[in-house]
Amino acid sequence: MTNLLVVTALRSERAALRGRINGARVEQCGMGPERARDWLPHLYGLLPQAVIIAGVAGGLDPSLAPGDVIVASEVRDGLGSVLTPAGAPLTAELRSMGLRARSGPIVSSDHIVDSTAERERLAATGALAIDMESATIVRGLAENFGEVPVAVVRVVVDTAERPLAGASTLSGGVQALRILRQLGPVFPRWADLAGPRRVVLAAPRSFCAGVERAIDIVELALERYPHPIYVRRQIVHNAHVVADLQRRGTVFVDELDEVPDGATVIFSAHGVAPGVREAAARRDLRVIDATCPLVGKVHNAARRFVGRGATVLLIGQDGHDETEGTLGEAPGQIVLVQDPAEAERVVVADPERVAFVMQTTLAIDDAAATAGVLRRRFPAIASSSTDDICYATTNRQQAVRAIAGEADVVIVLGSSNSSNSQRLVEVAERCGTPAYLVDDAAEIRAEWLHGTTTIGITAGASAPPGLVDQVIGMLRALGSVEIVERAVTNENVSFALPKEISG
Ligand code: SF4
Repeated sequence: MTNLLVVTALRSERAALRGRINGARVEQCGMGPERARDWLPHLYGLLPQAVIIAGVAGGLDPSLAPGDVIVASEVRDGLGSVLTPAGAPLTAELRSMGLRARSGPIVSSDHIVDSTAERERLAATGALAIDMESATIVRGLAENFGEVPVAVVRVVVDTAERPLAGASTLSGGVQALRILRQLGPVFPRWADLAGPRRVVLAAPRSFCAGVERAIDIVELALERYPHPIYVRRQIVHNAHVVADLQRRGTVFVDELDEVPDGATVIFSAHGVAPGVREAAARRDLRVIDATCPLVGKVHNAARRFVGRGATVLLIGQDGHDETEGTLGEAPGQIVLVQDPAEAERVVVADPERVAFVMQTTLAIDDAAATAGVLRRRFPAIASSSTDDICYATTNRQQAVRAIAGEADVVIVLGSSNSSNSQRLVEVAERCGTPAYLVDDAAEIRAEWLHGTTTIGITAGASAPPGLVDQVIGMLRALGSVEIVERAVTNENVSFALPKEISG
């Protein structure tokens, strides 16, 4: 069992945790940075292998409520900022208990911040919560113990709107201490993650050329055209990309009727049906099309086959933005076929005039199985001369297969609505390796890593490469990390920008 030290500032916090944490020592450093600094020499005799700074805090972000739990991604004070990535797996553990847990910056103040104005000023810096000791202790730990894994966990007592407001603070305090008690049993599970690891990186991973182009288009539109810039659907299926562009002046809408007249609207990388283009033209909207050229290629093939009088069978997923767009090329003449079972059942008007196209982000094996059934049932079936599943999907699936065999677990960075990211999880699992799809390090559960020594990491085509760095940073903060990369190919694909944005 890892030698875990838990540090609290207040007697009540210590009392909430004492006896709740199996095998851990719970110490009280006193309130405020000066007392914390004076307490630091106590650490020399304790030699912890992992440290958690735990207690209550004031909420800064307006969305927080009393009882919410913040796991610090970094701590800040007047001396600067110190990253605390090791705590990330605690966030997912706490969420799995049904708690409202978030990861983000915590700011440590040298005084009690009891004014709304000061809290709003601090919130504007992106900090989620405020305490008084964490930054001092984290810095002291780094100076005295070097690389010991450290996490900062704070339960919100009062909110930005009602800082230290009498009776509500009292009830918030009782609630926060009750939740703090619940956290105790989780701490040893996190501490047991401390130790060395090997990371095997799949290559290629992360952004493809179509996603880079789509994001470039939105960023250039933000520079060039009046705000807000509207984007129909998510520009790419990634929560971090969407949140970042929202912060910078982009409004994501489901349909064009949410876009005001005269505004600029961008079509997402997944493509749109011709009916959407026509509606935009009727509305006189300024349209910039970020459809990936490889999705456009599938649309062209579908149109070509329909033009020859064929029924087109689209191998794809129901409800995905891309299939919706492709089906819209010729409603009634393009029929969705999701899997081999549907391929066995599908009925066409003339078996001599039938073709198939594919969604670009399918699992290669699954799509081939469905295409195989169609070829057996309709020997005259036509298809594209080149693969519809794009190079990026193919390469990422081959790369994850290359690492899955030597990894104890595979972490796939990507959002749950990202088709190509979901497929990477499936490919790894088919190799017999447990695999998990996460938006970021804060979604990685401690239990997935327990007993593992080699972690495979990859990222879907819509996931920013910085998220992989974030996970590696988290693992490095838990112990030494040896990194190897398994590259199955080099990618050097790029696509030209549309004329509306390139000139
Ligand atoms: S995954 Fe493939 S089709 Fe989709 S945007 Fe990337 S390159 Fe284009």
